[in-house]
Amino acid sequence: MLHAMSQAAHDLWTAPATAVVLASASVAPAPASPGATPRAATARPAPAAKGHRRRVLVVEDEQDIADLIRHTLERGGDIEVAVALSGDAALAAATEYPPDLVVLDLNLPVLSGLEVCRILRQRSATATVPIIMLTARTSEGDRVTGLDSGADDYVTKPFSVRELAARVRAALRRGRAGEGPQAATYQGAHLTADFDAVSVQVDGLAVKLTRREFELLRYLVDNSNRVLSRDRLLERVWGYEHFIETRSVDVHVGRLRAKLGTAGHQIETVVGLGYRFVE
Ligand code: CA
Repeated sequence: MLHAMSQAAHDLWTAPATAVVLASASVAPAPASPGATPRAATARPAPAAKGHRRRVLVVEDEQDIADLIRHTLERGGDIEVAVALSGDAALAAATEYPPDLVVLDLNLPVLSGLEVCRILRQRSATATVPIIMLTARTSEGDRVTGLDSGADDYVTKPFSVRELAARVRAALRRGRAGEGPQAATYQGAHLTADFDAVSVQVDGLAVKLTRREFELLRYLVDNSNRVLSRDRLLERVWGYEHFIETRSVDVHVGRLRAKLGTAGHQIETVVGLGYRFVE
């Protein structure tokens, strides 16, 4: 049974991988025999033009949910999804074809999502791959444990597949949070920030921020849609250079939020966990 699942995961990876090769081949300047590869030429023209698709490994033991996630993510043509129905199948798939992102259900048979997460983090090939955890549990303890185990974000079931897809795309764009290059600018509905120029505007009007508020905003924006704990904010924004209490993070976030006015709501409080900048 377990072997069958691993094999299934393997087949799911290899199928789209083959499609990528075919699509790429159709880009090559060899129009000698039109119609010779009609399937490759017409199957997925968009990803062929882009060169490569991002690989997302969905680890979910409920086939219906896994299929729904796959269908939604693959709709845009720029993502290929492999589904693993168990934790050990996930580890096998991740070893064979390291994914660009993992959507990981917490409640899995045999190996739990937490264990899978920890193992992926220990392996060099997947140490920095973004992991979005799915959890049916609602207790803060489980979510904190998920984030502590190395997950970048979590989505609580029942969830909106469109929201999950948005989180996946955001995570793919920024790569591993906090370790990719910092964004130079941000343009939202109300907020415009040019971090290189140290310029922040809301609805076209300049906002005066203290250096700490500016760094806080920058770190939140750099890690958009990701929950950041107070301790992490302290470490990354304050650098522990001053002995301050985690509570003062709340004070600074409160002031920043007030200064941002109509854009302030983009900084969400995630009760018991920390804060999240929502794009
Ligand atoms: Ca499950």
